Amino acid sequence: FKPVVSLVGRPNVGKSTLFNRLTRSRAALVADFAGLTRDRHYGEGRVGDIPFLVVDTGGFEPVAKSGILMEMARQTSLAISESDVVIFLVDARAGVNAHDHEIARLLRKTRAHVFLAVNKAEGMNRGVATAEFHELGLGEPYAISSAHGDGVVDLIETALADV
Ligand code: GDP
Ligand code: MG
Repeated sequence: FKPVVSLVGRPNVGKSTLFNRLTRSRAALVADFAGLTRDRHYGEGRVGDIPFLVVDTGGFEPVAKSGILMEMARQTSLAISESDVVIFLVDARAGVNAHDHEIARLLRKTRAHVFLAVNKAEGMNRGVATAEFHELGLGEPYAISSAHGDGVVDLIETALADV
């Protein structure tokens, strides 16, 4: 059994950067993932001895601007249904926006295990970085930096411990 960890969030919050960090040398895609959709990237990650599958839900084909909301909703619902843990990324530097609220609304309706990751928080005070994201109603936010690695192992260990 390998737990499946999905990365969701609006475009540009750092899903692919986190995916690449988590899968690094194992970036080879998990081929022939029966029944799963094509417009998502699957990879394998590992913390300590524990392997897990990572799903980057970002659309890989350009979506018309008007279609972004629908596409995010579709990707988020798929992620909820196919994963053990959902990591919802937001952007510490950009702050909360309407798309974040929309995704949060979908995630709050489910029983999925959701972890809120406030990305791009390198060099920021944790409390300051995460403060405004409490309003998403998804519990205590984790400050991370996908680009630099801060907080990433902690987050994944906590998330996997919850499976
Ligand atoms: P995605 O659309 O959610 O997959 O986001 P990407 O992973 O493509 O990242 C979007 C932009 O944010 C890129 O320019 C990244 O280099 C940048 N980015 C991602 N993670 C971080 C981070 O931890 N810190 C900073 N400062 N920039 C980041
Ligand atoms: Mg991406």
